[in-house]
Parts: sequence; structure tokens; C-alpha cells
Amino acid sequence: MFDPIKAIIDFTAHASVSADPEAKPGIEGAVKFVGNLLEKELGCTVEVAPTAGHPVVIAKREGRPEWPHVVIYGHYDVQPADPLEEWHTPPFEGVVKDGELFGRGTADDKGPVMVHIAAMARLLERRPDLPLRVTFLIEGEEEIGSVNLASVMEARKAELSGEFLLMSDTTGIGRDDESITTGLRGISALEVRLRGPRQDLHSGFHGGPVMNPVRALAKLCASLHDEDGRVNIPGFYDEVVPPQDWEREEMARLDRDPEDYRKLLGVPELCPPPDFGVFESRCFGPTLEFNGIGGGYQGSGSKTIIPARAFAKISCRLVPNQDSARILDLVEQTLRERCPKGVTMEVERHHGGDPYVVLPPHLSGEPADTAKGRAFRAADLAIREQFGSAPHYLREGGSVPILSDIKRILGMDALMLSVALQDCNMHSPNEKLDLTVFERCSRVSEKILEAVADGA
Ligand SMILES: [Zn+2]
Repeated sequence: MFDPIKAIIDFTAHASVSADPEAKPGIEGAVKFVGNLLEKELGCTVEVAPTAGHPVVIAKREGRPEWPHVVIYGHYDVQPADPLEEWHTPPFEGVVKDGELFGRGTADDKGPVMVHIAAMARLLERRPDLPLRVTFLIEGEEEIGSVNLASVMEARKAELSGEFLLMSDTTGIGRDDESITTGLRGISALEVRLRGPRQDLHSGFHGGPVMNPVRALAKLCASLHDEDGRVNIPGFYDEVVPPQDWEREEMARLDRDPEDYRKLLGVPELCPPPDFGVFESRCFGPTLEFNGIGGGYQGSGSKTIIPARAFAKISCRLVPNQDSARILDLVEQTLRERCPKGVTMEVERHHGGDPYVVLPPHLSGEPADTAKGRAFRAADLAIREQFGSAPHYLREGGSVPILSDIKRILGMDALMLSVALQDCNMHSPNEKLDLTVFERCSRVSEKILEAVADGA
């Protein structure tokens, strides 16, 4: 009998950290593990498609050409586990405690992938002849920007195109409040490096005539927001489309207390930008954040130098209809224009991805008698059954850049069923998966797949 929780634990044991060049065994282990699982439990034909980076696992349950075809997306790669000392249990040894499964990848995205594998397994056990074609598309580079998946999709457009994409890689609100994600922010990331003197200098001998790169960087970074917290880059907001009324209403329906949220985060005060409430600003507004900053002496005590260099890592979260490449241009151009004298600048562009929105047919007025329409309807009903209340249709603040590529290349919209919860510590120490939500979501996924198969 297939035990999905044990399968997640075994999957988690492979430290498939895509950003770490040393993690090759973990990547290979995770690829092998999930491929074998899909073959053994679902009878899929499994192929490991190589890319210039980490491979993509493509597993197919084939069938008659007239059967509907659903593509299920997920990723087997995970974020680094650091800082290790903050984990209460070893990150790559899944541990169940009080209805939660702890471990790196349990919430992002190995557990959520397993929701759909478990759903398929149960469905096929009940109905071995289910008239449904399914392709699992499980990549290994989501955490580093899905750099090579688009080329795989371009090369294999026909076989990877289905009625819609089913996936779980977004976060829900709480155990009893299931949500369907209707949009994600885009992203543009870059790194700026300033160089001053050839090497660190004695701040007494040379302090005065020399521009300090840390001072220059601080000035530059501080110029990127105005007093109210708006991004201070000309043209940054030009393409921004405000949210629709129903989206704001859905958000208000949650009736969350900003004070609880403040406590959860442990910040002294919340500072949303103008025009948006605390929760609205997490998904409807664009941002520019400093992800890391450095330069000069970092050891204990003091060291009186003028550092030779300084750097900052910057990323923007984008909303419709901002274009990630254009935003990178604007940020880079602004940095160059504002670069203080006395230092030289180097800008390295990192990954990007456009924002993405999918409207559920019953809210958008799209025809509902399509596979996508049936899937959304089945999801709505099954969520009411499993969670005891109607789903929330919400955009969220994170980014899954590949979604806009999937829409562009394969022409599919995504049904995003949230599995991980907001307090799941995604990308942080003590990542965890709520097993009640896991079980409920796998029942929902089962209903979605069955409804699409039956055309009902
Ligand atoms: Zn993820």
C-alpha cells in the first residue's frame, strides 16, 4: 500500500539543493527517487530529460488521444538548509511531530508534489481504466529561476501541452481556510558591486580624498525608495494594473488581524507602502528589496579601513503588467545614473520572471464547460467538502516565474491548489508540512482529476 508520508520522508532525504554545486548526489538521488515512484506507483513511463543544468523528470500516464490531458507541475529541488544550527531536527531527515512533517522540502515542494501523486494513486486504484492522460513535469531548478525548463518546453511543445496545469507550489492561509492561488508576482533580481581603491586602505593615512565604497553604496541604496516607501525609480509603476474589486473583496473576507501578523513576524511595526493595506501590499503591489549587502571588515572589534569594495543584492517583486526585463533595465539604468563619483560600478543581472494571473471561470465569465472550468468547479466543491468552507481565491506575493512561460509556450493556465501554509517556514529553518492539509488536498486533487476525466 502506497504511503505518501513515508514517500515524502524518503524524497526529503535527498538533499537536492539546486544552488549548491556540491549537491549533485542529492539532485541525482531525488531524480531517481521520484522517477521510480511515478513508475512503480502510477505505472508512468518515466524519462529524465537532461538540460544545461539539472534534469527534468517527465512521467506520463498515456492513453487514448481523445482523453483529456492534464499536466502536473512540481519541483524536486530545494533551498539550502542554512543556517543549520537553527533547525530543531536534521533538515534532510523528515520527522513527524504533532501532525506536522519537518524537513527541507516538505512544504516546498516535495510534499505538495506528493499530494497529486497520492491523489493519482488512489484514483487509479479505484478506477484503473480512468480515461485521463497525465504528464508529471518535475523540474530541478525552480529555486534558481527555472533557467532551463523553458527550452525543454519549447522543444517538446506538443507532448507537454494539456488542457491545463495542476500544481501546488504556493501557500495557503490556514488549516481550515483553503485557497486557490489566482496570481503570483514576477521577479527581477540583480547584484550591484562598487569598487574603490585597489585594496583595503588605512583609513587614517588615506581617509579624506578617497570615496568609501560602503558609503557610496549606502547612498545609492537609500535613493531607491522615497520617504513613504514607494520605489523611487522613474517608470517603475508605469505598467502597474490595480487589482479588481472582487480581488480586494476576497482579501477583505479573510478578516485577518495585522497585529497577529506583526507578532508572527516579530517586527516592531509594519510599514506597508501607501495605497495598500498590510495584506494587500503583499500581493497587489510591486516592491524592491535588498536581499543582502556587504563590504569592509565583518569580524569582531574594529578595523580602521576604507574597504576596497561593497555589494548589494537586489530583487523586485512585480505585479501585472510589469515586464521583468524592462524592470531590470530601469533598475540598472537608475543605479548607473546615481552612482556616486569615486567608485566604479558593475551590475550583474540574475534571474527574472513575469507576473502571472489566472482567473477562475466562475469569476471571469469564461466558459465553464472546458476541462479547466470543470477542474475549477470540482476544486471549489471538493474544498467545501474537505475544509468545511468555500475556497479563497487569492493572489500571492511569491513568484513561480515558470508559470508565465508555461502560459506562453504551452498555452495552459494553472490551477494552483495551496498545500503549504503561511507558517510553514518555507526557505527557512524548520520547514514543515501540515499533514491534515496534505490529506485534504490530496482528496481535492483526486476530485479534480476525476471530474476532468469524466468530463463532468
Ligand atoms: Zn517551490
